[in-house]
Amino acid sequence: MKVFAIKKETLRMALEVARDSYPKEFAAMLRAREGVITELLFLPGTIGADRSAMIPFYMKPVDFSIVGVVHSHPTPNLSPSQADIALFGRSGDVHIIVAYPYTEKSWMAFDRMGNPIELEVL
Ligand SMILES: [Zn+2]
Repeated sequence: MKVFAIKKETLRMALEVARDSYPKEFAAMLRAREGVITELLFLPGTIGADRSAMIPFYMKPVDFSIVGVVHSHPTPNLSPSQADIALFGRSGDVHIIVAYPYTEKSWMAFDRMGNPIELEVL
């Protein structure tokens, strides 16, 4: 399934959770239907540490509607870190970083190699 878009309300929810979690990072899985990301999936045991958000991947359900991960940065830096790129490679094809101050312009999508990709907002 090729993911080409995210629903506006799903993006808004990610920005809102990022704001609520600040200055900690948060992470959640992205669930898509017919190529559109429609849902954030918070797993029990998701860790939001001060420096890095981590998802315990042994808890990842066998669920092919999960296409990637969204996580937040407590700074305006939208670039994936080396640790982020390692995470991307293990956890799907589409990844979103939302950065401080978490407005509708402060986010980017990436492929599993950490290259920026276009996501439409629907
Ligand atoms: Zn990061």
